[in-house]
Amino acid sequence: MTNKTDKPDQLDSDCLEAFDHLYAYLNGELKDPDAVAKIEHHLDHCRSCFSRAQIERELNARLKQSGNDTPPESLQNRLKKLIDNF
Ligand SMILES: [Zn+2]
Repeated sequence: MTNKTDKPDQLDSDCLEAFDHLYAYLNGELKDPDAVAKIEHHLDHCRSCFSRAQIERELNARLKQSGNDTPPESLQNRLKKLIDNF
């Protein structure tokens, strides 16, 4: 339960790396098993990345549900901004 960082919104280099692959991972496009394992390990240990992954997951599910009604990019951009400020 202890975290090496006191500030949850401070990203370390592991977080940045996880972020690089997070979208591909959530889209099932990350094929490298090592990279997948690394992300999953990181998400297991990093609360802030885990929260973000949850948001992304939710977002993906909604985009798939919304069909052709809304242009996915604009919604994605809006939420991306939201997540950036998170
Ligand atoms: Zn992290």
